[in-house]
Amino acid sequence: MKIMKFGGSCLKNVNDFSTVADIICEEIGEKVVVLSGINGITDKLISFIRKKYKEEDIEKLISELKHIHLQIVKGAAYHKEFYKMAKEKIEEKLKVLERLLYGVHYVGELTDKTRDLILSYGERLSVIVMESILNSRGFAAKAFEGDEIGIITDGNFGNATADLSLVERNLKKRILPFIERGFIPVITGFFGCDDEGRTTIFGRNGSDYSASVIAYALDADVVEIWKDVDGFMSADPKFVKEAYLLDSLSYDEAAELAYFGARILHPRTVEPLKLKKIPLKIRNLYR
Ligand code: ASP
Ligand code: MG
Repeated sequence: MKIMKFGGSCLKNVNDFSTVADIICEEIGEKVVVLSGINGITDKLISFIRKKYKEEDIEKLISELKHIHLQIVKGAAYHKEFYKMAKEKIEEKLKVLERLLYGVHYVGELTDKTRDLILSYGERLSVIVMESILNSRGFAAKAFEGDEIGIITDGNFGNATADLSLVERNLKKRILPFIERGFIPVITGFFGCDDEGRTTIFGRNGSDYSASVIAYALDADVVEIWKDVDGFMSADPKFVKEAYLLDSLSYDEAAELAYFGARILHPRTVEPLKLKKIPLKIRNLYR
């Protein structure tokens, strides 16, 4: 089984979504897709809740988010019927987000719990978009949300860590049967929930970590992280002219580079993989 994770840099527009869908559809064999939010959506949510906003701003943001997502569904999911289904699901999600934003506005307070919940919406929306694109190509795909399927964390809001044995138990029960019936699960990256069901995010770029947690839970053979770069470099090419692409790294080397600021991977991504010796490949969507 292969875990295929696509980051925000691979999810910018209709073209990207079509390319990603092609790659998923061409992959024979069992697979699970893990997605980030559409490029820039998490940033947009972060900057929105950082400032004091007015009621009108909420309406503007919600209609902008609706437009961005529906435009991609419209461009890449060719069947009207799937467009309609995705539209309803997207509107339903946005209704909840809208209410959350009103709540924060009226209470005048943003707790860590509410912040994590609000920031999870980029991923909750993007999986609906991909599900509809894959369905309209004739593939049985099903969107899942990380908290709904039991990606249980330590409850550290803003920077949670997964409880790998609980996640393994839950995903084997809730995701494996779908794979066995031929479905392609499309799972949100970036978040899970604490043992009381409250959404917790894994920190910025947390979808990489989600992919490896899911790989661990399902005993995957390999994780592919699709990005807009070729892989780890020997140094930051912005500062070191001679930086070159590394063919391979050990888990510890990759962890160290990620930890000390190589932005290519979420710092804790390799931890679950090292435990089960699952390899990780970085792949460039544009090459
Ligand atoms: N959307 C989240 C972020 O931008 C998680 C991710 O993309 O990996 O940080
Ligand atoms: Mg992102």
